[in-house]
Amino acid sequence: MARQGEPSRGATGILALTPAELRALRREPHAPGGAAIQVTRQHNLSVIRRLLYANGPQTRPELARLSGLSLPTVGGLVSTLVDAGTVQDLGVLAQAKVGKPASRVAIDAAGNVSIVLDLTHDDMFIGALVDLDGTVVDRVHVSIGDASGEAALEHAVDLATLLLDRATAQVIGIGVASPGLVDDRGQVHVADRLRWRDVPLADVLQERTGIPTVVGNDVNLLALGLSRFRNRSGRDAIVVALDNGVGAAVLEGGKPVLGEQFAAGEIAHLTVVADSEMCPCGRRGCLDMIVGTQHLARRLEAEGEGILEPSGRILGEVLAPIVIMLNINVIVVVGPASLVEGPFADGVVSGIHSRLRPAIIEGLKIEVGANDPDLVLLGAAAVVMESQLGMR
Ligand SMILES: [Zn+2]
Repeated sequence: MARQGEPSRGATGILALTPAELRALRREPHAPGGAAIQVTRQHNLSVIRRLLYANGPQTRPELARLSGLSLPTVGGLVSTLVDAGTVQDLGVLAQAKVGKPASRVAIDAAGNVSIVLDLTHDDMFIGALVDLDGTVVDRVHVSIGDASGEAALEHAVDLATLLLDRATAQVIGIGVASPGLVDDRGQVHVADRLRWRDVPLADVLQERTGIPTVVGNDVNLLALGLSRFRNRSGRDAIVVALDNGVGAAVLEGGKPVLGEQFAAGEIAHLTVVADSEMCPCGRRGCLDMIVGTQHLARRLEAEGEGILEPSGRILGEVLAPIVIMLNINVIVVVGPASLVEGPFADGVVSGIHSRLRPAIIEGLKIEVGANDPDLVLLGAAAVVMESQLGMR
């Protein structure tokens, strides 16, 4: 049961309200008592929030028209949201038309935050609070040592709870970036380093905190962070991350492709050369052994700069067929600047170009550059915002 003792309809349920909204709802002197009416009212609050998020500032009459609810009902709902701090009253329009001037209300970007967790680092979990503008307003690093399994799960719950306590704005949801294969219900099927198999991560966090939770694969969320907050990839894009095992995300219409086994973009163990050192997966010649940050750095140290361009070229050659199969126009490759900028980036570009007809790649944008650790956090916030407030 939820921490606040309130029912929850899951990460995508339209009925999910923030704890403060529920408290404000309970405080109302004339709040209807019947359970069915209460559910309707929660639904209507969620509708108003979503309309404001999608359409920007509105007057109460405009909200009444958009929602199909009566003006007095909308007035009551807006008051509840303003009391909860999730919506702000912007005051009267400067040039109001004839008649009683109407004030506009808007979602308060700084008054709503997502709790986001990044579980992809070797010995620590990173947690943050991110507001609706994509500003990281608080950040916590916790060492997890070599914790795995149940112990790692407890660290994740503790971190979410800690951030819930630290939040001064309203928490709209929890978004988690997990390594490995994550399904569309927030279950982590396989995450090797954490030794997780079929862990219902979203359900566990939601039950223990009372906050609606969504979980995604880290590279998929990184791609969403780029797309939603940095405007650096289009709605169709391939994003490749070279850290923590090579992974890729394919964005189609702004959404990450998950795949039938939720393994879309798991390119780390694609065989790309005839021989290499033995990969931990038990085979040789895996892409991760060639361009994965750890292995690339090791080979650079042992063999010198000459390995960078051909390694980048191999990655480019792997990406070329995907570019043409999906007719993608944007490729973003991120990793440590010292490794990926310069000869490696040149190799990626020439590898892609060598495999495709020039006419096909005329509009192709290839960007190879330094990773920004905030992108995963921002992507996790983006999925929370989408699940709780809708698209805009
Ligand atoms: Zn392998």
